[in-house]
Amino acid sequence: MAIPEVLSRLHGKLIVSCQAPDGDAFRHPECMARFAQAARDGGAAGIRANGVEDIRAIRQAVDLPVVAIAKKVWNDGRILITGVFEDAAELARAGAEMIAIDVTSRGQRFGALERLARIKRELGVTVLADIATVEEAVAAEQAGADAVLSTMRGYTDETAHTTGFEPDFIAQLVRAVKVPVIAEGRIGTPSEARAAIESGAWAVIVGTAITHPSAITRRFAGAVESARGLRGDILGIDMGGTNTKYGIVSAGGRLSAEGFVPTPSGGGAVLLAHLKTVACHLLDGARRAGIAPCALGIATAGWVDTRTGCVAYATENLPGWTGTHIGEELQAATGLPVAVENDANALAAAESQFGAARGCRDFVCVTLGTGVGGGCYAGGRLNHGAHYFANALGHIPVVLDGLPCTCGLKGCLEVYANAAALVRYAGGGYPNAEEVVNAANAGDARARAAILQYAKHLALGAASIVHLLDPEILILAGGIAQNNPLLLATLQSELVARLTVPDRRKLRVTVSSLGYYAGVYGAAAAVRESDPL
Ligand SMILES: [Zn+2]
Repeated sequence: MAIPEVLSRLHGKLIVSCQAPDGDAFRHPECMARFAQAARDGGAAGIRANGVEDIRAIRQAVDLPVVAIAKKVWNDGRILITGVFEDAAELARAGAEMIAIDVTSRGQRFGALERLARIKRELGVTVLADIATVEEAVAAEQAGADAVLSTMRGYTDETAHTTGFEPDFIAQLVRAVKVPVIAEGRIGTPSEARAAIESGAWAVIVGTAITHPSAITRRFAGAVESARGLRGDILGIDMGGTNTKYGIVSAGGRLSAEGFVPTPSGGGAVLLAHLKTVACHLLDGARRAGIAPCALGIATAGWVDTRTGCVAYATENLPGWTGTHIGEELQAATGLPVAVENDANALAAAESQFGAARGCRDFVCVTLGTGVGGGCYAGGRLNHGAHYFANALGHIPVVLDGLPCTCGLKGCLEVYANAAALVRYAGGGYPNAEEVVNAANAGDARARAAILQYAKHLALGAASIVHLLDPEILILAGGIAQNNPLLLATLQSELVARLTVPDRRKLRVTVSSLGYYAGVYGAAAAVRESDPL
């Protein structure tokens, strides 16, 4: 079956829908013609437009093929696209090479299939079928449609559950029919338009996102106004294995009412009750001080599904924590919007908003302590991965079949770069890693040698991270990195020696300066990070 020449010209191209409803500021044929000119200048290969007046104006303004429709309120009180043959004939006389009609099950009840065949037969134009389901597309193709358009997906009773653009639906259509499938409907961004083509669409039609200034303004206004609420004070709680730290973080990064309480041992229910108590205590204190917090942020060990505020997975260090709906529970307890984030990710967010990485789009924050973890920003966003398991920096392998790790694997970076490793490198005799650092700073040769060995192992893992992400800054957080100039200097040189094109990178290695309450900053930062902006 031959593809009409006009459709061939649209292959792999963008079509811009230039329509304005009654009452819209742009409701005038001249305005639609101007939109069509702007669309052409921007690279559109075709125009979709409604009604003979608009189509005549557009035909005069641009030399692009037009998909024409006639939208009218039908006798069931709803709009129907090109519901009568006479309207199609008028569109063809106005210069439309292509006419689209509603071939949904509702459209078919009003004779769409017969009308489609008649338009094709009597008017000699290319006929496009606006559909919402695969079955409708197949019926339209059998009736002679030259192409099917996903336009009605989400706008019929049967598909009302659809709320966004679905590339999968385009792929289903492509598999089901032989005629070209043109993606249209709820395509709001260039990446969605590209996804449509990648799913097999012949062409893509975008309307509102390009030619509806009041709708575009509404999106921006909504974003700006929702952000305004987050400019206020945020409660932050960082639940660590030993202590739970808390405080109020202002939009400018000022910490107040900070403090800590021991984290109780026990299962998930105990921890959840503990978090609620701390949150309510903090909220009461804030209100007594005349502060009306706008949100609550929680940082916790374990991997967190940040969309739902639920713990996706926690190790046996936190028994029963997996599956805990922290977000919902804390929201119910405090009445505040709640964001929940993994503690290492939260630290990275803190660095992004309040620390060394302000204004930096690509950086990594590595936490060095009992465990080794981190958070990575790529392109200005905190990376969570497909399953919220990203940033497991401590489990990057650095030694083949090396020492066993708490995760069950062997040779993980964590076993060679945690606090216990530093004590081990020093040959024992130091009560903890902090004492090794103090001794090294005092000139103790054994302690200095231990730090060199530690830095070499850390550099191995860091080289993998840098090769993967090419960050601007590598931030070291946690007790071992504090007050440890030997580690910083050694890591820098060891890392450079293990990097490709080191001289072309402007990589800086630095130490977190957010201090003891970095995690509280992180919990607050997670709230802004979770903003749908
Ligand atoms: Zn591991």
